[in-house]
Amino acid sequence: MLVTLLCPNLRCRRVLQVPDTTRGHRVRCGHCGQILTVPTKQQQKAKASKDPRTTQTPSA
Ligand SMILES: [Zn+2]
Repeated sequence: MLVTLLCPNLRCRRVLQVPDTTRGHRVRCGHCGQILTVPTKQQQKAKASKDPRTTQTPSA
């Protein structure tokens, strides 16, 4: 299974696909050479739950 990432290099911004086994490890963008950390599933979940649109319900 592949993990889809976006290169954090603003001049690159390529979509990268890395193996699931690289979660929590650092990989290098094959296009610009930028080192990036592959987020774990838990990190991805935490990020998603921080989204105010999903966590905060308007108390009307
Ligand atoms: Zn890149």
